[in-house]
Amino acid sequence: FAVHLVSFFFSKLQEDPTKKVDRFLYAMRLHDDQLKDISARFQAEMKKGLSSESNAAAAVKMLPTHVRSTPDGTEKGQFLALDLGGSKFKVLQVKVREGMGIKRGGVEMEERTYPIPKELLIGKGTELFGHVSESLKDFLHQRNISLEKKHPLAFTFSFPCEQTALDQGFLLDWGKNYRPRGLQGKDVVQTLREAIDRTGGLDVEVLAMVNDTVATMMTCGFDDEYCEVGLIIGTGTNACYMEELRHIDLVEGDEGRMCVNTEWGGFGDDDSLNDYITEFDRDVDAASNNPGKQIFEKMISGMYLGELVRLVVLKMAKLGLLFDGRVSDALRTKGKITTAHVAAMEEYKNGLKNTKDILTELDLNPTSDDCIAVQHVSTIVSFRSSNLAAAGLAAILSRIKQNRNLRSLRITVGVDGTVYKTHPQYPKRLHKVVRRLLPECHVRFVLSDSGSSKGAALVSAVAQRLASQRRQ
Ligand code: BGC
Ligand code: MG
Repeated sequence: FAVHLVSFFFSKLQEDPTKKVDRFLYAMRLHDDQLKDISARFQAEMKKGLSSESNAAAAVKMLPTHVRSTPDGTEKGQFLALDLGGSKFKVLQVKVREGMGIKRGGVEMEERTYPIPKELLIGKGTELFGHVSESLKDFLHQRNISLEKKHPLAFTFSFPCEQTALDQGFLLDWGKNYRPRGLQGKDVVQTLREAIDRTGGLDVEVLAMVNDTVATMMTCGFDDEYCEVGLIIGTGTNACYMEELRHIDLVEGDEGRMCVNTEWGGFGDDDSLNDYITEFDRDVDAASNNPGKQIFEKMISGMYLGELVRLVVLKMAKLGLLFDGRVSDALRTKGKITTAHVAAMEEYKNGLKNTKDILTELDLNPTSDDCIAVQHVSTIVSFRSSNLAAAGLAAILSRIKQNRNLRSLRITVGVDGTVYKTHPQYPKRLHKVVRRLLPECHVRFVLSDSGSSKGAALVSAVAQRLASQRRQ
């Protein structure tokens, strides 16, 4: 008996605290077979969204963007741009210089962030757009931009819209932390124009509205002709890519390609991911602004990662697996662990110390094993996020490869978003898994810094170039 007791204590003492986390979160640790399965399911969803028969009921909407061409480097001009719907609302002036490439100053921009008062996120839609146009006016004043000639304006709007033209898009749904009233089903460009008129004294012409994924692809495409995919992993998540027009039932024509905004965040909204959903995903969804919607997004994006970690840690503590079973009020409070915390906990050198500070800040009293365990929770949650994004991306890339009947594919993915930019390990993990799932593809990833802002101006520049070519 004594021997048993001793060996029991030893195994208790020596058990690596990450092991119990691994056991507790086995459902979040996806291996490659599962990722391939998810990837195949996503491919089926893409087909559903593209076909006119199934589009109306599709969870993955596959929205045509009316962007038919990536930049060729000959575009030029000066544009005002707005970027609404990411972690910050920005007004910008973007200068596009012909044939220089971004690194050599081909695309220059000056920007200003305008905070959005919280009440506008849940108020009247027209008031939110009033704030947008007032901010634009302020920007023009601050920068001494004269209004003697009409300024072309491009708009990055990071919500799903049904676009019938580059400068027309009907809002399908708000998302993330936005839920203003009265704009669903309305043309967002028209709403912006009306707001600009109401503000008065602004001589601007709204040329194009694009999703942030499209803007990111275009920015990266200015330097790299192989860039035909745009990816955002930020507050929300989504991807776009160049699809063959013949496969896009909703748009006339069979020749050439058009960029499709997949709105992949909606993957799973029709229960197609139910066997991968954990109790923590269910709780995050139930407490969100849009229960039942954006299921894939809620497993991936920055708005939810911290919350997932908090719910796991809370449950483990309640079960006595952490902090000797003690729980604090802070740990019980929604939003107390953020994605920034997740990134800090996984920092290379300071990760464990950061974890201890974060837990102490939450009025917990962690042992060093607790810290190791919580850091590991964070790793599993953020790893699952990059794994799922990789599975979605692999589906898109292999679709492009099939479309073009290629045995191997060389392609570049332009990426933007706070999670991708600030989480220390995220990009590396994502790249590795995509390459493992698609050994026959040569995938290059390019961080398209501010791509989501600059790119709208590039879309306008491409549109202007194509229009002037047609006139010649
Ligand atoms: C929106 C997408 C957007 C993505 C990234 C999602 O919530 O539905 O339109 O591209 O977030 O910002
Ligand atoms: Mg953004």
